[in-house]
Amino acid sequence: MSPRLHRSSRAAGALVGSAVGDALGAPFEFGPPGQFGARFPTPARGAETEMCGGGSPGREPGEFTDDTQMALLAGTSLVERGGLDEADLFDRFLRWAEAGPPDIGNQTRAVLGSGLPWDVAAAEHFARSGHAAGNGSLMRTTPAAIRFARDGREATMDAARRISALTHGDPAAGEGCAVYHELVRVALDGGDPLAAVPPALAAVAEEHRERWATVLAPDWTPERASESDGAVWPTLGQAVWALRRGTSFAEVLRLVVDLGGDTDTVAAVAGGLAGAVYGMGGIPIRWASVVHGRIPGHGDRVWRLADLQQLAAALDGGAQQSYDPGVIPRIGPREVLPGIWAGNLDGARYSEEDFAVISLCRLGEPFPHPVHRMAYIADDDHNADLDAMLADVLDDMAALRAEGHRLLVHCHGGASRTGLVLRGWLVREEGMSVEAATAYVAERWPHLGLWNDSFTEALHRLERSRG
Ligand SMILES: [Mg+2]
Repeated sequence: MSPRLHRSSRAAGALVGSAVGDALGAPFEFGPPGQFGARFPTPARGAETEMCGGGSPGREPGEFTDDTQMALLAGTSLVERGGLDEADLFDRFLRWAEAGPPDIGNQTRAVLGSGLPWDVAAAEHFARSGHAAGNGSLMRTTPAAIRFARDGREATMDAARRISALTHGDPAAGEGCAVYHELVRVALDGGDPLAAVPPALAAVAEEHRERWATVLAPDWTPERASESDGAVWPTLGQAVWALRRGTSFAEVLRLVVDLGGDTDTVAAVAGGLAGAVYGMGGIPIRWASVVHGRIPGHGDRVWRLADLQQLAAALDGGAQQSYDPGVIPRIGPREVLPGIWAGNLDGARYSEEDFAVISLCRLGEPFPHPVHRMAYIADDDHNADLDAMLADVLDDMAALRAEGHRLLVHCHGGASRTGLVLRGWLVREEGMSVEAATAYVAERWPHLGLWNDSFTEALHRLERSRG
């Protein structure tokens, strides 16, 4: 946990982390425990990663499911309506359900298909069936948890209950969403969400408190779950259990997907929490770079990483503007180190598509390259998680090189951030000193920029940690 992380990194981490968890877990849904770890005993950083797609229905690697589709409907409604407009949100859910999404929870389908208005449909279904404490409202609540976090504990927990109640008439589901909102609120503030569990439980409606306290207790384990897989209690219980045990975003996600069962939803919930804790820089770039999907009933737009980051910023109170870098004179690609090429934004954008591209800046329109990793490093001295991001980039580069790919490293100008990674490669892979690596790159890449002192400091830490 890094208290220095900027709030915007945590907000983006929560939203992207939840979508990443959904897409990562989806191929393993309803499978037995241990499948993920058996298939991926070590991190898969080459062209094919743990984002393997498939499953039923067949999905592309990185494609998210109904969890994220509904979350994005909630997020866009909150932004476009300037707050919670339950009728509008229900209507968006309705249009989605009517379009026949490839996966939709049973309760959600029954409620949205009932033809009843937003303020009675879920309550009616609960009164009739008594079944409503599924995890289908918890799985989609990360955007709302970001949006209401600044309003304080009571307001965010109340909003969680109201949004849950649109499809889940059982107040137990709403209480689970309320606890989740509170844990995300604390994490976005830089606090420890695990320490926030007891006060969150104290704010749970009394008749539901004990059951929630059971699954959120420090000694609870997934084997102790007494409810079925799709129920709301073990879903949040498993996510919090993994957050207690894992020491990184990737480890938390591995733990939950390896539990088997409702893997996409549990990983979406765990990913939202872990993303808020570890921030955007803690999410492996090989996962974040490929996350994508459409929202049935809501046009052909494909949501990708940059769209999720923008939505998170808007939910957190920033401006939601699309990024257009314009057209810039191309620099590169040029081979600077054996097998490793450098360029600027448009040099990379229009390069041959068999390059494995490592992007270090914002892009605007997506690139056509099939192998493309995106790590957003700011061109200044304020990257809180620079060491982790640099290590993640270099690890992926090493794996892709080992598979024989030509690498193309670039940032907007091809100067400072590109230079950081090229120098880092030489320090780590070739055993050079920072000074030698800098001189080596400067000789071969005249665009090298050295204005960020924190980059050179990070390289010195890398040199010392090399051992
Ligand atoms: Mg799903």
